[in-house]
Formats: sequence, C-alpha cells, structure tokens
Amino acid sequence: MADSFSRCEVLIAGTGPAGLATALYLLRERPALAGRIVALEKSAHPRFKTCAGGLIPKTILALEELGLALEVAACIVMRGEARTPVGVVEIDRGEPLCTVIRRDEFDARLARAARAAGLIIAERTRVIGVTQNSSRVRVETDRGAFEASILVGADGSGSRVRAAVFGPGKESIGRALMTDIPVDPRDAVEFADHRYRFDFRCVSAGIPGYAWSFPCLIDGVPHLNVGIYDQHPRASGAAGGEQAQMLTELRAAFPELPLAALENRTQPFRAFPIRWFDSRDHYTSGRVILAGDAAGVDPLMGEGISCAFEHGKLAARAIARSLDGDATALEAYDRDLHRAAVGRKMKKLAFAARHFYGPRHRLFFRLARLSRRAREIGIDWYNGARRIDERPTRALVGRWLREIFFGASIR
Ligand SMILES: Cc1cc2nc3c(=O)[nH]c(=O)nc-3n(C[C@H](O)[C@H](O)[C@H](O)COP(=O)(O)OP(=O)(O)OC[C@H]3O[C@@H](n4cnc5c(N)ncnc54)[C@H](O)[C@@H]3O)c2cc1C
Repeated sequence: MADSFSRCEVLIAGTGPAGLATALYLLRERPALAGRIVALEKSAHPRFKTCAGGLIPKTILALEELGLALEVAACIVMRGEARTPVGVVEIDRGEPLCTVIRRDEFDARLARAARAAGLIIAERTRVIGVTQNSSRVRVETDRGAFEASILVGADGSGSRVRAAVFGPGKESIGRALMTDIPVDPRDAVEFADHRYRFDFRCVSAGIPGYAWSFPCLIDGVPHLNVGIYDQHPRASGAAGGEQAQMLTELRAAFPELPLAALENRTQPFRAFPIRWFDSRDHYTSGRVILAGDAAGVDPLMGEGISCAFEHGKLAARAIARSLDGDATALEAYDRDLHRAAVGRKMKKLAFAARHFYGPRHRLFFRLARLSRRAREIGIDWYNGARRIDERPTRALVGRWLREIFFGASIR
C-alpha cells in the first residue's frame, strides 16, 4: 500500500482535527496539490477519540470558512453554570455557547471532506520514526517508509513526530477522564435547559482544573458526557493516586449521577492526555512542523479543537509559501504560533491557568464574579464569538473598559 504514494509533496501524521484542518485549508488554497498530500493515520475513520466533543463558536466559524456544514448529530448549548470555590456563576449570552458532537462522527466527516478535496489518507499506518536532511523528510511507519518535502506532526498529545524531532519533554501534559451516562432528557437539566455545567471546586482540593457535564447524543440516544480535567497530573504523587483523586472530585461535583456504580464496570472511564501550550516550546524544526495537541493547546480548559483549526490554517499558509520557494516560511510558522492571534490567546490562557489554578485561586474566582459584563466579554473572547479573540490586546482591553464603564457593547 505504501508503495503507490511513498513519495509525495506533503506528509501529515495524524487525521484528527489538526491534520485534517491543515489538509482542508491547504487544498482550498492550492487545489493543484490534490493527490500530492498524504496523511498517515494509525487508526481508521470513524474511530473513537476520548473527548467531550464541545465545539466553541470559533470552531463553527472555521467550519463556515471552509464551507463545511456540520452534518453530524449535535446538542446546542445555550446556557451554562460554573460552580467555583466562592459561588455559582450563570452564563447566558443569548447565542450558542457550544455545539456538542461525537468525535468519531465529526472527525470522519472532516476526513470525508478532505478526501473529496484530494487528500490521500493511509489508514492503519502508524508513524514510528522521522529523519530529515536539507531537502526531504523520511517517515518510517509500520507499513513502510514515506518521503516528502514537508511533514506536519498532527498526531496528538503523545506525538511520535514531536518525540522524534523535538525531544521527549512531558512537562506540559494535562489529563482528562470522562464517561458517558444515558439519561432521560426530561430529568436532566442539561437537556431540559440546553445547558452545560462546569465545577471548579476541585481546585481547592488540589486539582488544577474542573469537572464538566455536557448533553450529547450517542446513536441518537441522550447521554451526559461527564468528566474532569487536571492540568498538572504529574504533581499529584503516587501512580494511580492521581486518577482516584480525580474520580473523588468528579463524584463530589455531580453527586446526583450514578458515578460510583459505574466504577465497578470494565473500563467505565476513559483517560487521555492533553498537551497544553508552553510559550518556551518550538513548533518548527527544519522541514517538520507541529499542529494541534502535538504542539500544545489551551492550558486553562484543555479545549483543543478550535486550536487545531487555527494551527491548521497557519500551517497551510506556511506550507504553501514554502512550496513556492520561500525558505523562511516554516520558521515563520513557529513565530506565528507564538505571536499570531492563537499564540496570544494561548499565552493569556496560560496566565489565567496560573492564577485560577494557583494558591490564590479564591481571590481570582472572586474577582471574576465581580462584574457580569466583564465576565461576558471574557466568555465571548474565550469562545471566539464574532472573532473578538483575534483583535489586538490593546483594542480588546479598551473595548472591555468601555463596556464595563459606559455599557457599550462589543460587536
Ligand atoms: C477527556 C477529554 C475531553 C476533551 N474535551 C474537549 C472538548 O469538549 N472540546 C475541545 O475543543 N477539546 C476537547 N479535548 C481536547 C481535544 O480532544 C484535542 O485537543 C483535539 O483532539 C486535538 O486534535 P488533534 O488533531 O491535534 O489530535 P487528535 O484528535 O488526538 O488526533 C491525532 C490523530 O493522530 C493519530 N495518531 C496518533 N499517533 C499516531 C501515529 N504514531 N501514527 C499515525 N497516526 C497517529 C490518532 O489516531 C488521531 O487520529 C478533550 C480532551 C480530552 C482528553
């Protein structure tokens, strides 16, 4: 199988949102690359991915930009509730806050679109190693070797490409675990009120993160996707202790759910790492670039799908320029991931994580509760609603102050 396209223009390791967004943006910009971009995927679509499947409005904007209808079952969330160590916060912006999908269906939908645009996907092909010289990258897989001028490492938090080319660093890896519970939609506020629920009280118990409950549909059947995110699981001591503590906090967040009963079943909870953005990291090495979880995503909430699309868009632009002969294009991608809108946003989220998950977290949660309007701007900014997260920091702070003091609205 490898022989027919073992040499190509661009190789992409991984066909999650980051790899597929890279291909979709690149083929939109350069349709002539159809048939010359190969994605290597260890699994086969549709494949399970441990993920709550919450698409923030920024991701919906990216789909619109790519001309893609969602085409999969979804629950639209209109309201939210966040329990914090100092009280409860209600969220209602009068527009969708989140669209909850299932990742097997969503990623398969993206893969179909990318194939239709000309991406070749080599499924059941696992990347094992990477070497490069000044003109080519060679990728060893369990189905033979592939060569290209550029390689995109979009193979997730445990990226083989990252480990082979950038080194094994594991300091910036969080962990989330989740389960799906079937519910009668009449009995669950998440369905009755189109609501998601967050609970940050685990921060006071030593878990820098939050528990969540999202409404979702699995094969048309209403479920709650319930889970907990820990930004620093390595700090939690003995092996196994980390997961036990996460489960204790998850049960405390949602005592009405039958979570304790679930623990007796085989594999009731699925855990998965989330690599978060670290401003000291580099994302380009020679002819290899990283995108999505392989690079690092939102440290505060572990949200990574919108980031995957943003990285994909920047990667596509850099690859197109590089293929045009711009020798600095891939290095510029590294700068973009730090300095463009997505990099600036990740730095602010890293700052927020340090404070909301730090020793003075109660003070910061208290501050966040002070002004409803300031909070709403923060939520719109986080969600990328109307792309306000792309505005320069100074303009955003000016508008934020105007909104708080004079009641002008950010549109
Ligand atoms: C429990 C949990 C809940 C989450 N909830 C949300 C949420 O609600 N909203 C949100 O935005 N984000 C959420 N995230 C984060 C989100 O899942 C990731 O940020 C997102 O999947 C990143 O996309 P990606 O394409 O970079 O990586 P992935 O989606 O991990 O895709 C990587 C792909 O590479 C393939 N691959 C891996 N290794 C190899 C290899 N060696 N060779 C070939 N192929 C390989 C994998 O099979 C996979 O298809 C959650 C994460 C977890 C763990």
